[in-house]
Amino acid sequence: MLRINCPVCGLRDETEFTYGGDATVIRPPVTEADPAKWLDYVFFRDNPRGPHKEYWHHVTGCRQWLVVDRNTLTHEIGAVRLARDEHSDRESTVTMEPAK
Ligand SMILES: [Zn+2]
Repeated sequence: MLRINCPVCGLRDETEFTYGGDATVIRPPVTEADPAKWLDYVFFRDNPRGPHKEYWHHVTGCRQWLVVDRNTLTHEIGAVRLARDEHSDRESTVTMEPAK
């Protein structure tokens, strides 16, 4: 069983978390019109063997989203950070021009 060191709650069993996917994938802007970019974003993922950044949700704990460095070969857990801190540079709000 994996043990994840949540920055808020401390060391917890894997059963308290749900896997949230690849943390290196970046969603295209909502104004992106190229279907190929959305196809890539929604359906295609790498399947790395070794170090990987993953989203984990601490569902039965603090309910924070985490970015976990995990080796997919050995299951060794490295650094664990809050996703909101890890991706604070990413756009989190949607701004669109009003329809005319
Ligand atoms: Zn937590």
